[in-house]
Amino acid sequence: PLGIVAGITPWNYPLMMAVWKMGPALAAGDVQILKPAEQTPLSTLRLVELAQEFLPPGVLQVVTGDGVPVGDALVKHPGIQLVALTGDVATGKIIAANAAQTLKRVHLELGGKAPMVVLDDADPATVAEAIKIGGYWNSGQDCTASSRILVGKAIYDDVLSETVSAVEGMKVADPAEGDDVDMGPLISEAQRTRVLGFLERATKSKATIVTGGESHGDRGFFVKPTVVTDVTQDSEIVQDEVFGPVVTVQPCDSDDDAIALANGVRYG
Ligand code: NAD
Repeated sequence: PLGIVAGITPWNYPLMMAVWKMGPALAAGDVQILKPAEQTPLSTLRLVELAQEFLPPGVLQVVTGDGVPVGDALVKHPGIQLVALTGDVATGKIIAANAAQTLKRVHLELGGKAPMVVLDDADPATVAEAIKIGGYWNSGQDCTASSRILVGKAIYDDVLSETVSAVEGMKVADPAEGDDVDMGPLISEAQRTRVLGFLERATKSKATIVTGGESHGDRGFFVKPTVVTDVTQDSEIVQDEVFGPVVTVQPCDSDDDAIALANGVRYG
Protein backbone atom coordinates (compact mmCIF):
# COMPACT_ATOMS: atom_id res chain seq x y z
CA PRO A 1 0.00 0.00 0.00
CA LEU A 2 1.11 3.53 -0.80
CA GLY A 3 -1.38 5.48 1.31
CA ILE A 4 -3.97 7.64 -0.47
CA VAL A 5 -4.63 7.07 -4.18
CA ALA A 6 -6.70 9.41 -6.34
CA GLY A 7 -8.68 7.83 -9.21
CA ILE A 8 -9.77 10.27 -11.94
CA THR A 9 -12.20 8.77 -14.45
CA PRO A 10 -13.71 9.66 -17.87
CA TRP A 11 -17.36 9.60 -18.90
CA ASN A 12 -17.45 6.74 -21.39
CA TYR A 13 -17.92 3.81 -18.95
CA PRO A 14 -18.52 5.63 -15.66
CA LEU A 15 -19.37 2.70 -13.39
CA MET A 16 -16.72 0.32 -14.74
CA MET A 17 -14.04 3.02 -14.71
CA ALA A 18 -14.74 3.60 -10.99
CA VAL A 19 -14.50 -0.14 -10.28
CA TRP A 20 -11.29 -0.54 -12.31
CA LYS A 21 -9.70 2.26 -10.27
CA MET A 22 -10.90 1.24 -6.80
CA GLY A 23 -10.38 -2.54 -7.18
CA PRO A 24 -6.56 -2.55 -7.24
CA ALA A 25 -6.22 0.42 -4.85
CA LEU A 26 -8.41 -1.13 -2.15
CA ALA A 27 -6.98 -4.63 -2.70
CA ALA A 28 -3.49 -3.21 -2.10
CA GLY A 29 -4.64 -1.60 1.16
CA ASP A 30 -4.83 2.00 -0.04
CA VAL A 31 -7.44 4.66 0.61
CA GLN A 32 -9.14 5.58 -2.67
CA ILE A 33 -10.55 8.99 -3.55
CA LEU A 34 -12.53 8.85 -6.79
CA LYS A 35 -13.11 11.91 -9.00
CA PRO A 36 -15.67 10.97 -11.68
CA ALA A 37 -16.03 12.88 -14.94
CA GLU A 38 -18.12 16.02 -14.55
CA GLN A 39 -20.59 14.71 -17.17
CA THR A 40 -21.30 11.40 -15.39
CA PRO A 41 -20.94 11.52 -11.58
CA LEU A 42 -24.18 9.81 -10.49
CA SER A 43 -23.32 6.10 -10.82
CA THR A 44 -20.02 6.64 -8.95
CA LEU A 45 -21.81 8.51 -6.15
CA ARG A 46 -24.32 5.65 -5.81
CA LEU A 47 -21.58 2.99 -5.92
CA VAL A 48 -19.58 4.69 -3.17
CA GLU A 49 -22.74 5.20 -1.12
CA LEU A 50 -23.57 1.47 -1.33
CA ALA A 51 -19.95 0.49 -0.55
CA GLN A 52 -19.98 2.42 2.76
CA GLU A 53 -21.84 -0.50 4.35
CA PHE A 54 -18.87 -2.81 3.74
CA LEU A 55 -15.80 -0.61 4.19
CA PRO A 56 -14.23 1.18 7.16
CA PRO A 57 -15.07 4.92 7.26
CA GLY A 58 -13.09 7.03 4.78
CA VAL A 59 -11.47 4.15 2.89
CA LEU A 60 -13.50 4.87 -0.25
CA GLN A 61 -14.41 8.48 -0.93
CA VAL A 62 -15.75 10.45 -3.87
CA VAL A 63 -15.37 14.10 -4.75
CA THR A 64 -17.20 15.59 -7.73
CA GLY A 65 -16.44 18.58 -9.94
CA ASP A 66 -14.54 19.75 -12.99
CA GLY A 67 -11.04 18.61 -13.91
CA VAL A 68 -9.86 22.06 -12.85
CA PRO A 69 -10.12 22.86 -9.98
CA VAL A 70 -11.19 19.54 -8.39
CA GLY A 71 -9.06 16.91 -10.19
CA ASP A 72 -6.20 19.40 -10.27
CA ALA A 73 -6.37 19.86 -6.48
CA LEU A 74 -6.05 16.09 -5.95
CA VAL A 75 -3.09 15.89 -8.33
CA LYS A 76 -1.28 18.69 -6.47
CA HIS A 77 -2.19 17.64 -2.90
CA PRO A 78 0.91 16.67 -0.90
CA GLY A 79 -0.99 14.01 1.08
CA ILE A 80 -1.81 11.90 -1.99
CA GLN A 81 0.78 9.35 -3.11
CA LEU A 82 -0.50 8.23 -6.53
CA VAL A 83 -2.89 9.50 -9.20
CA ALA A 84 -4.52 7.06 -11.61
CA LEU A 85 -6.14 8.73 -14.63
CA THR A 86 -8.14 7.33 -17.49
CA GLY A 87 -8.61 10.16 -19.95
CA ASP A 88 -7.23 12.13 -22.84
CA VAL A 89 -3.55 12.20 -23.80
CA ALA A 90 -3.46 15.97 -23.23
CA THR A 91 -4.87 15.51 -19.71
CA GLY A 92 -2.30 12.78 -19.02
CA LYS A 93 0.54 15.13 -19.92
CA ILE A 94 -0.78 17.88 -17.62
CA ILE A 95 -1.31 15.45 -14.74
CA ALA A 96 2.15 13.88 -15.14
CA ALA A 97 3.74 17.34 -15.07
CA ASN A 98 1.72 18.51 -12.05
CA ALA A 99 2.25 15.24 -10.15
CA ALA A 100 6.00 15.65 -10.59
CA GLN A 101 5.92 18.72 -8.32
CA THR A 102 5.21 16.47 -5.32
CA LEU A 103 6.99 13.40 -6.80
CA LYS A 104 3.70 11.49 -7.00
CA ARG A 105 3.48 8.29 -8.95
CA VAL A 106 1.08 8.29 -11.89
CA HIS A 107 -0.84 5.55 -13.67
CA LEU A 108 -2.11 6.79 -17.03
CA GLU A 109 -4.55 5.05 -19.37
CA LEU A 110 -4.91 7.41 -22.31
CA GLY A 111 -6.17 7.47 -25.91
CA GLY A 112 -6.04 4.80 -28.59
CA LYS A 113 -6.24 4.24 -32.35
CA ALA A 114 -6.54 0.48 -32.63
CA PRO A 115 -6.16 -1.25 -36.00
CA MET A 116 -8.14 -4.26 -37.19
CA VAL A 117 -5.97 -6.20 -39.65
CA VAL A 118 -7.93 -8.23 -42.22
CA LEU A 119 -5.85 -10.59 -44.36
CA ASP A 120 -6.84 -12.01 -47.74
CA ASP A 121 -8.19 -15.31 -46.40
CA ALA A 122 -10.82 -13.69 -44.12
CA ASP A 123 -14.56 -13.97 -44.72
CA PRO A 124 -15.86 -10.46 -45.58
CA ALA A 125 -19.32 -10.93 -44.02
CA THR A 126 -17.81 -12.12 -40.73
CA VAL A 127 -15.39 -9.18 -40.79
CA ALA A 128 -18.28 -6.74 -41.29
CA GLU A 129 -20.08 -8.11 -38.22
CA ALA A 130 -16.85 -7.74 -36.18
CA ILE A 131 -16.48 -4.13 -37.35
CA LYS A 132 -20.02 -3.35 -36.17
CA ILE A 133 -18.94 -4.26 -32.65
CA GLY A 134 -15.28 -3.17 -32.74
CA GLY A 135 -15.84 0.18 -34.41
CA TYR A 136 -19.23 1.30 -33.17
CA TRP A 137 -19.68 -0.15 -29.66
CA ASN A 138 -20.59 2.68 -27.23
CA SER A 139 -20.88 4.88 -30.36
CA GLY A 140 -17.12 4.53 -30.85
CA GLN A 141 -16.43 6.38 -27.56
CA ASP A 142 -13.97 3.72 -26.59
CA CYS A 143 -10.18 3.93 -26.31
CA THR A 144 -9.98 0.36 -27.65
CA ALA A 145 -12.30 0.97 -30.63
CA SER A 146 -11.11 -0.70 -33.85
CA SER A 147 -11.15 2.59 -35.68
CA ARG A 148 -8.68 1.67 -38.48
CA ILE A 149 -9.56 -1.28 -40.72
CA LEU A 150 -6.57 -2.48 -42.78
CA VAL A 151 -7.64 -4.89 -45.53
CA GLY A 152 -5.71 -7.10 -47.96
CA LYS A 153 -6.18 -5.89 -51.54
CA ALA A 154 -7.70 -9.17 -52.77
CA ILE A 155 -10.79 -8.78 -50.57
CA TYR A 156 -10.82 -5.00 -50.07
CA ASP A 157 -13.88 -4.34 -52.28
CA ASP A 158 -15.87 -7.18 -50.73
CA VAL A 159 -15.02 -6.15 -47.16
CA LEU A 160 -15.92 -2.53 -47.89
CA SER A 161 -19.30 -3.35 -49.46
CA GLU A 162 -20.20 -5.87 -46.71
CA THR A 163 -19.18 -3.33 -44.06
CA VAL A 164 -21.20 -0.51 -45.60
CA SER A 165 -24.32 -2.65 -45.82
CA ALA A 166 -23.84 -3.95 -42.25
CA VAL A 167 -23.33 -0.40 -40.95
CA GLU A 168 -26.32 0.98 -42.86
CA GLY A 169 -28.45 -1.78 -41.33
CA MET A 170 -27.64 -0.70 -37.77
CA LYS A 171 -30.52 0.72 -35.76
CA VAL A 172 -29.42 4.10 -34.36
CA ALA A 173 -31.75 5.30 -31.61
CA ASP A 174 -32.20 5.99 -27.91
CA PRO A 175 -31.05 2.71 -26.28
CA ALA A 176 -34.09 2.92 -23.97
CA GLU A 177 -36.28 2.23 -27.02
CA GLY A 178 -35.45 -1.47 -26.94
CA ASP A 179 -32.95 -4.30 -27.13
CA ASP A 180 -32.73 -4.07 -30.92
CA VAL A 181 -30.98 -0.67 -30.82
CA ASP A 182 -27.42 -1.10 -32.14
CA MET A 183 -26.04 2.35 -31.39
CA GLY A 184 -26.99 5.32 -29.22
CA PRO A 185 -25.92 8.97 -29.19
CA LEU A 186 -22.66 10.65 -28.25
CA ILE A 187 -22.19 12.06 -24.75
CA SER A 188 -22.68 15.74 -25.57
CA GLU A 189 -23.13 18.39 -28.22
CA ALA A 190 -19.43 19.30 -27.83
CA GLN A 191 -18.43 15.71 -28.65
CA ARG A 192 -20.73 15.64 -31.70
CA THR A 193 -19.24 18.92 -32.94
CA ARG A 194 -15.75 17.45 -32.46
CA VAL A 195 -16.59 14.27 -34.42
CA LEU A 196 -18.24 16.17 -37.28
CA GLY A 197 -15.21 18.51 -37.38
CA PHE A 198 -12.91 15.53 -38.00
CA LEU A 199 -15.16 14.42 -40.89
CA GLU A 200 -15.32 17.88 -42.42
CA ARG A 201 -11.52 18.20 -42.39
CA ALA A 202 -11.11 14.66 -43.79
CA THR A 203 -13.43 15.49 -46.71
CA LYS A 204 -11.44 18.65 -47.43
CA SER A 205 -8.28 16.55 -47.63
CA LYS A 206 -9.88 14.32 -50.33
CA ALA A 207 -11.11 11.46 -48.15
CA THR A 208 -14.42 9.85 -49.16
CA ILE A 209 -17.28 9.35 -46.71
CA VAL A 210 -18.85 6.16 -48.04
CA THR A 211 -21.72 6.16 -45.55
CA GLY A 212 -22.79 8.29 -42.57
CA GLY A 213 -20.88 11.52 -42.00
CA GLU A 214 -23.72 13.53 -40.51
CA SER A 215 -26.03 13.96 -37.52
CA HIS A 216 -28.96 11.62 -37.10
CA GLY A 217 -32.47 12.67 -36.04
CA ASP A 218 -33.52 15.91 -34.39
CA ARG A 219 -33.20 14.93 -30.73
CA GLY A 220 -30.02 13.84 -28.88
CA PHE A 221 -26.42 14.08 -30.04
CA PHE A 222 -26.41 11.31 -32.66
CA VAL A 223 -23.88 10.86 -35.46
CA LYS A 224 -24.63 8.20 -38.09
CA PRO A 225 -22.20 5.28 -38.14
CA THR A 226 -19.57 6.42 -40.62
CA VAL A 227 -17.12 4.69 -42.95
CA VAL A 228 -14.28 6.73 -44.51
CA THR A 229 -11.99 5.65 -47.38
CA ASP A 230 -9.31 7.25 -49.60
CA VAL A 231 -7.29 8.27 -46.56
CA THR A 232 -3.54 8.63 -46.36
CA GLN A 233 -1.58 7.21 -43.45
CA ASP A 234 -0.43 10.66 -42.34
CA SER A 235 -3.92 12.21 -42.39
CA GLU A 236 -5.55 13.45 -39.21
CA ILE A 237 -8.46 10.98 -39.43
CA VAL A 238 -5.96 8.06 -39.43
CA GLN A 239 -3.53 9.51 -36.88
CA ASP A 240 -5.79 11.06 -34.21
CA GLU A 241 -8.44 9.57 -31.98
CA VAL A 242 -11.95 10.61 -33.10
CA PHE A 243 -13.81 8.99 -30.15
CA GLY A 244 -16.98 8.65 -32.22
CA PRO A 245 -18.70 6.20 -34.62
CA VAL A 246 -16.12 6.56 -37.39
CA VAL A 247 -13.89 3.92 -38.97
CA THR A 248 -11.39 4.33 -41.79
CA VAL A 249 -10.78 1.51 -44.27
CA GLN A 250 -7.36 1.27 -45.94
CA PRO A 251 -6.09 -1.30 -48.45
CA CYS A 252 -2.74 -2.99 -47.86
CA ASP A 253 -0.41 -4.74 -50.28
CA SER A 254 0.97 -7.50 -48.07
CA ASP A 255 1.07 -8.79 -44.52
CA ASP A 256 4.19 -6.68 -43.91
CA ASP A 257 2.43 -3.59 -45.24
CA ALA A 258 -0.53 -4.29 -42.92
CA ILE A 259 1.78 -4.49 -39.90
CA ALA A 260 3.58 -1.31 -40.91
CA LEU A 261 0.29 0.59 -41.26
CA ALA A 262 -1.01 -0.90 -38.00
CA ASN A 263 2.05 0.38 -36.14
CA GLY A 264 2.24 3.66 -38.05
CA VAL A 265 0.48 5.91 -35.53
CA ARG A 266 1.67 7.77 -32.45
CA TYR A 267 -0.48 5.72 -30.05
CA GLY A 268 0.86 2.55 -28.49
P1 NAD B 1 -10.53 13.99 -20.12
O1 NAD B 1 -9.08 13.74 -20.11
O2 NAD B 1 -11.04 15.29 -20.58
O3 NAD B 1 -11.16 13.78 -18.66
C1 NAD B 1 -10.87 12.64 -17.89
C2 NAD B 1 -10.92 13.01 -16.43
O4 NAD B 1 -9.84 13.89 -16.14
C3 NAD B 1 -12.21 13.75 -16.00
O5 NAD B 1 -12.61 13.30 -14.73
C4 NAD B 1 -11.73 15.21 -15.93
O6 NAD B 1 -12.49 15.99 -15.06
C5 NAD B 1 -10.32 15.04 -15.43
N1 NAD B 1 -9.40 16.15 -15.71
C6 NAD B 1 -9.39 16.95 -16.81
N2 NAD B 1 -8.40 17.86 -16.72
C7 NAD B 1 -7.75 17.64 -15.55
C8 NAD B 1 -6.64 18.25 -14.89
N3 NAD B 1 -5.96 19.27 -15.43
N4 NAD B 1 -6.25 17.75 -13.70
C9 NAD B 1 -6.89 16.70 -13.13
N5 NAD B 1 -7.97 16.09 -13.69
C10 NAD B 1 -8.39 16.54 -14.90
O7 NAD B 1 -11.13 12.77 -20.97
P2 NAD B 1 -12.66 12.51 -21.37
O8 NAD B 1 -12.97 13.42 -22.50
O9 NAD B 1 -13.52 12.50 -20.17
O10 NAD B 1 -12.56 11.01 -21.87
C11 NAD B 1 -12.20 10.68 -23.15
C12 NAD B 1 -10.74 10.30 -23.24
O11 NAD B 1 -10.42 9.23 -22.35
C13 NAD B 1 -10.39 9.79 -24.60
O12 NAD B 1 -9.24 10.43 -25.10
C14 NAD B 1 -10.10 8.31 -24.42
O13 NAD B 1 -9.18 7.76 -25.27
C15 NAD B 1 -9.67 8.23 -23.01
N6 NAD B 1 -9.97 6.90 -22.50
C16 NAD B 1 -8.97 6.02 -22.29
C17 NAD B 1 -9.25 4.77 -21.80
C18 NAD B 1 -8.15 3.78 -21.52
O14 NAD B 1 -8.41 2.78 -20.86
N7 NAD B 1 -6.96 3.97 -22.02
C19 NAD B 1 -10.55 4.40 -21.54
C20 NAD B 1 -11.56 5.31 -21.79
C21 NAD B 1 -11.25 6.58 -22.25
